[in-house]
Amino acid sequence: MAVEIPYRREIAFEYGRLERVAPGIRRIVARNPGPFTFKGTGTYVVGEGEVAVIDPGPELEEHIAALVASLAEERVSHILVTHTHRDHSPAAKALKAATGAPTYGFGPHAGGQRGEPGIEEGGDWDFTPDVVVRDGEWIEGGGWRFEAVHTPGHTSNHLCFGLPDSGILFSGDHVMGWSTSVIAPPDGDMAAYMASLDKLLGRHDTVYWPTHGPAITEPQRHVGAFIAHRRERESGIIDCLKAGIETIDVMVERLYAGLNPALRRAAGRSVLAHLIDLTGRDIVAADRPATVDAHYRLRHLPRQG
Ligand SMILES: [Zn+2]
Repeated sequence: MAVEIPYRREIAFEYGRLERVAPGIRRIVARNPGPFTFKGTGTYVVGEGEVAVIDPGPELEEHIAALVASLAEERVSHILVTHTHRDHSPAAKALKAATGAPTYGFGPHAGGQRGEPGIEEGGDWDFTPDVVVRDGEWIEGGGWRFEAVHTPGHTSNHLCFGLPDSGILFSGDHVMGWSTSVIAPPDGDMAAYMASLDKLLGRHDTVYWPTHGPAITEPQRHVGAFIAHRRERESGIIDCLKAGIETIDVMVERLYAGLNPALRRAAGRSVLAHLIDLTGRDIVAADRPATVDAHYRLRHLPRQG
């Protein structure tokens, strides 16, 4: 009885064109498609005339040039960054140079080390926001105001940006319609991610615009399915441990049948994220610090409910 996630993958767009996707919201998609970026990074422009740009995108010349040219007649007043992965924040530098707009974000990249082989696009260690934004803070501009929602998990510095007046939430990589989010330690944290999903369930947003893929029009149902999916994965891991499987490699083979080989390392990191969480809850013990190479065993079963 596998959990069904109501994926949404239909998206109409043209690379390099700033297109209106909703009243007061435009999007331009960067040509960086891939197994972790879907069709590419969707950079959003909010407002008219005086605008905020959310997730300027990767260091991709044609994308930056198209974005800057499309906004030549307008004033960019804010550059908002959901998190510091290389498909989200690097273009902030060029956009800031072209427009003079300050950058807003939770903080620089954290967890792990510069140069470490990353999962997905890897960390952008060069980004430091001009304005540090904390959970619940407001960012106001021409005709809009954003509420910053700190949603650690995918990265520790992940922010969603809400427009409560219109029920919109820019959900970054925290909640996407086309895929689950990669939770890869050390910066990715499963316990934090689950808490950040719960946090969204307590809100009243009516539509999410993630950085990759189309809008999510039934966000509560979607978030609920992701929570159920991770709980299901967790019980799958516990079943592996009960069956005497001690290593992440073998767990991945058993839990992700038919997996695209390009996603194998990410799957291993995701299982690791669960095992770190289970270790923290005293349900699992590791024979050394919890890493991809450790051996794991069950300490005791989690309490029901
Ligand atoms: Zn990301």
